[in-house]
Amino acid sequence: MTNYGLVIDQERCIGCQTCAVTCKQENNVPMGQFWNRVLTVGGDHIDTPEGSYPEDGESGDLDMQYQPTACQHCENAPCVKVCPVNATYKREDGIVEIDYDKCIGCRYCMAACPYNARVFNWDEPQHRPEEGTGDVEERPQGVVEKCTFCSHRVEEGLDPACAVNCPADARIFGDLDDETSTVSKYVNEYNTEQLLDEKGTDPNTYYVQGEMTPGRTWTSDKLESELDEQPTAEEAGDPDSEKSMQGATADPVWGDD
Ligand code: SF4
Ligand code: SF4
Repeated sequence: MTNYGLVIDQERCIGCQTCAVTCKQENNVPMGQFWNRVLTVGGDHIDTPEGSYPEDGESGDLDMQYQPTACQHCENAPCVKVCPVNATYKREDGIVEIDYDKCIGCRYCMAACPYNARVFNWDEPQHRPEEGTGDVEERPQGVVEKCTFCSHRVEEGLDPACAVNCPADARIFGDLDDETSTVSKYVNEYNTEQLLDEKGTDPNTYYVQGEMTPGRTWTSDKLESELDEQPTAEEAGDPDSEKSMQGATADPVWGDD
């Protein structure tokens, strides 16, 4: 059976926000709302590094990584469990979606989601340009919305817009149940992490740091063949994978778009 998932390579991500913007365009996301946010891992606040600045001729050790975050399409999704009208549901192909006709705007799902992945249309959604963008119908006032893994594209055999348009090739989408897929090779052969795994949500989104970057090329075909050749995380020795994921639950820091 198909089970769609996403791997985000944090070593590759350059924090350009293309995924956030292309998501808005593709999915006709209203002004002031984002389904896809690029957070940071490092200091106590978004966009701040941990470590120290250079001082007295010594080099500093500032460190910060980008952490793109959207709906994680959890296998054990708390948002699905709490929805009183079954408007939020997990599809057989692993995508968590919302039936906007059923949603009553109670926002229980927003409270239940540990990833702050959902947004609520308090007002009549505004778009720029006014006629909207992309082929996805706008959602009405009073409902919750979020990332769908671009299900409208996936159903046509296309990858989500964020994966296609990422200039750093940091997003790999595919079928987790197909062991020959690139996304499966990442998950099965490398040291990937799921955000807030202590919550037991078992996300279909995985993060990888470090071991893929050396020698990795820019096209997915070459990438796949290289995956066959490269040592596993165990063979290569464990990278520093203990960095906290404190950014995952942070509120986005956006001005009006
Ligand atoms: S588009 Fe790619 S490189 Fe840019 S922020 Fe998103 S994941 Fe990172
Ligand atoms: S990330 Fe949040 S909205 Fe997405 S499936 Fe998990 S609990 Fe639901």
